[in-house]
Amino acid sequence: MKAVVFEEYNTFPVLKDMPKPQPGSGEVTLKVAGAGCCHSDVSVFQEYTPETGTHTKPPFILGHETTGWVDELGPDVQGIKKGDAYLVYGPTGCGHCPHCVAGQENYCSSAATNESLALGLGRNGGMAEYMTVPVRNLVPLGDADPIGAAPLADAALTPYHAIKASMPHLGGGGKYALVIGLGGLGQIAIQILHALTGATIIATDTKPEALAKAEAKGAITVPSDENELKEIRKITHGEGVNAAFDFVGIAPTIAAAQAAGAAGSRVTVVGIAGGKAEYDWYSKPWEQELMGVYWGSIPELYDVANMYRNGQIQTEIETYSMDDALVAYHNLVDNKLSARAVVLPNGRP
Ligand code: NAD
Ligand code: ZN
Repeated sequence: MKAVVFEEYNTFPVLKDMPKPQPGSGEVTLKVAGAGCCHSDVSVFQEYTPETGTHTKPPFILGHETTGWVDELGPDVQGIKKGDAYLVYGPTGCGHCPHCVAGQENYCSSAATNESLALGLGRNGGMAEYMTVPVRNLVPLGDADPIGAAPLADAALTPYHAIKASMPHLGGGGKYALVIGLGGLGQIAIQILHALTGATIIATDTKPEALAKAEAKGAITVPSDENELKEIRKITHGEGVNAAFDFVGIAPTIAAAQAAGAAGSRVTVVGIAGGKAEYDWYSKPWEQELMGVYWGSIPELYDVANMYRNGQIQTEIETYSMDDALVAYHNLVDNKLSARAVVLPNGRP
């Protein structure tokens, strides 16, 4: 089968032939429907080093944002039907620590020493015609379109978790939320904010097309430039926002998120760009929280799947054939995508 493999640290992934995987105990093989290209993959092939951990060691097949149809059942698997469509929960934890038993494999207590962080991050992922998945990581899609659903596994699950965790700051009327970075995750974040809160949404990006798409979703847009903070103050009547979500994560965007906040606000850094935040006692606003988040939990992915089936989350995708999978990654690196890139390793059914 064809697969996109991260072969060696600091090298671009390659498209190559790999053997079709066999499901082990407690696993199924999925015929992959859609494999999303996430910006985190860029960190994997551009920034991972032997020092970043046991789970980052190449080679492995990329793809941690996947949907597929059940193709084969492992020896002891029951209650799952061949041909049914599933969304893949990516994180793979130890399965028995307090976080894993709560379905938060993303925060597994043994993450630092586990061989795999997730399907597509250590263990082979879904950027291939077939992949094996532990049954615990399967979230049913019913009759929902699995190709359009692929981005849910990360581009929706991650903002959903971040926004849910910020609900104490956004409950009640007259609240403001700021979304920085309107790519794959940011565009879905706006929809989730609408569905979960009554907050006025302010959205910022450097790309005019991304701002236009956010505006069409009902956000007030502000270009990310030197006037950004002044504009946000004006929109919030001088108070600042109650919660900010930074989907870029460089030092200037973290600083902007902090400076745009009201007293008692929350800044959530989602973007993996390694930006450092600054703080001292004189920093304003008072009582501001700064939080980093990583992905989400299995129960949260069930919520996200329901939101998709109920029309509260609509994904926007541009699709690529398996032969063009590396073109999709190049376009992601060059910030040339106009929607989430989803590779269809088996074409359209
Ligand atoms: P993307 O490439 O689809 O979108 C990034 C957007 O940010 C683009 O619209 C781009 O124009 C905009 N941008 C770039 N620089 C900017 C700046 N200085 N100011 C304002 N906007 C700017 O990326 P994505 O797949 O949506 O991922 C977003 C980030 O979230 C990445 O850093 C990714 O690694 C990270 N991520 C984190 C998690 C997590 O669990 N924490 C999960 C998935 C992705
Ligand atoms: Zn665990």
